[in-house]
Amino acid sequence: MPAKRTLIRGGQIYDHDGDVHRPAVADILIAGDAIAAVGAGLAADGVDEIIDAAGRLIVPGLINAHYHSHDVLCRGMFEELPLEFWLLYTLPMGANRSDEEVRARTLVGAIECLRCGITTVQDMLGLVPLTDAQTEVVIAAYRDAGIRVVFSPMVWDIPPVAMMRHGDSLPPDVQEMLGRTPRPIRDQLDYLAHQFTHRPAAGTLHWAVAPFAPQRCSPAMLQACGELAEKYDLPVYTHVYETRSQRLIARELFQKHGGSLIGYMADCGIVGPRLNIVHSVWIARDEMERLAAADAGIVLNPLSNMKLKSGIAPLLAMRQAGVRLGIGCDNCSGTDVESIFQAMKMLCLTAAVSDPEPGAPLAHEMLRHATLGNARTAGLAHCLGAIKPGYKADLILIDLNDPAYLPYNSAARQLVYTEAGRGVESVMVNGRLVIDKRVVKTIDEDALRREVDGLMRHFLADYETIVESRKAALPHMLHAHRQVWSADVGMERFMPHAHSQK
Ligand SMILES: [Zn+2]
Repeated sequence: MPAKRTLIRGGQIYDHDGDVHRPAVADILIAGDAIAAVGAGLAADGVDEIIDAAGRLIVPGLINAHYHSHDVLCRGMFEELPLEFWLLYTLPMGANRSDEEVRARTLVGAIECLRCGITTVQDMLGLVPLTDAQTEVVIAAYRDAGIRVVFSPMVWDIPPVAMMRHGDSLPPDVQEMLGRTPRPIRDQLDYLAHQFTHRPAAGTLHWAVAPFAPQRCSPAMLQACGELAEKYDLPVYTHVYETRSQRLIARELFQKHGGSLIGYMADCGIVGPRLNIVHSVWIARDEMERLAAADAGIVLNPLSNMKLKSGIAPLLAMRQAGVRLGIGCDNCSGTDVESIFQAMKMLCLTAAVSDPEPGAPLAHEMLRHATLGNARTAGLAHCLGAIKPGYKADLILIDLNDPAYLPYNSAARQLVYTEAGRGVESVMVNGRLVIDKRVVKTIDEDALRREVDGLMRHFLADYETIVESRKAALPHMLHAHRQVWSADVGMERFMPHAHSQK
């Protein structure tokens, strides 16, 4: 059977290299899963379906370059907790859950992404235990939702207590709570290799390798992750310098590598074009330059960095160093929204703290990071992130009748500063309309709602048990946290004179 041909007619097509404020009106011809042609007055001969896009802005599908589906059901549960405290609750609530719950949480996150115009999500899943059966549950849920996924079950061999500075001096019961059991390297790598071989990337499934964080991985683990990525030609994502504590851990425990987690990763052979480090709130200037020279990237997560009290990433310094950038939304319980619109806006607004000079970051640059930049993190910039012939048909139709566009002065600025997600009317992934005029076509949302309601009774009971068991740890956590914030991190955070220095 020949590929289905769809003509999207008469929309304003957002072009990164064109007029980003007033995009030109044109048609898009889609053949199968890809864009075949873009231009004015395309012929409708042999077309199976015509979509009238008059009064619509057509934008490349947004990509969420950092997310974890394991804690979707914890959305709205936390508010005041800095990252290290929050992990005490959110990690256990994502582990050892039923197949039904894993499927439901994956679908909820996927539908939320789609409704916010996200056509690709990078799921760095903390799957505990790492089983073949639950991996299939997750992949099937993504396939059923119809979203594109860059899937990377996380691996680590050094236990979670290593996330805490001076974790080994905490009382044994607190260490136990954080987690002090190592995981064997070989089992996890065999598991990954098995997935990559038996469920090869195809259609809307893509793979990535995700060592949890350098301080959670031995050199043997990082090297093995690098080799696996090389063998299967995959990108690598890992959490680096999310909190001030991690900067101190680098200085104190990684002296052999220049007191740097980037130095440590480079010595393990994984700093290169495949690598994307996530967060980088507490990264130093020379480390940014090292990443830029290696064509490694940074994925920024301003929403979770602010909500989990981690801080603000030095965006201007990163831009000056020439590091490639992406944007993510991060966890549902540490953000608590999968909205690239909010993330783009927040990133622009945090410049008030990091770089209070007139100028960048600008809205159209954020849109580029959230599409082409994020596609690049996954090694997919040749086929995702733009509306051009040869690219995958991943795109969103924004209804310009929404008040966010009244009056309509700039597509780029109003998408970043004004769009709250309301305008997302239709969403196409891989040539298939998964949301058509605000109706999700792939799954039954009402049935999902009822299912989640049913699951929450058991989930909340487990949560109460976790809350109770964590109480004794809190004074120790607070003490450690205050020590971190009173310690000298030995770096200048923001560089107000950076413009004149360059
Ligand atoms: Zn993360």
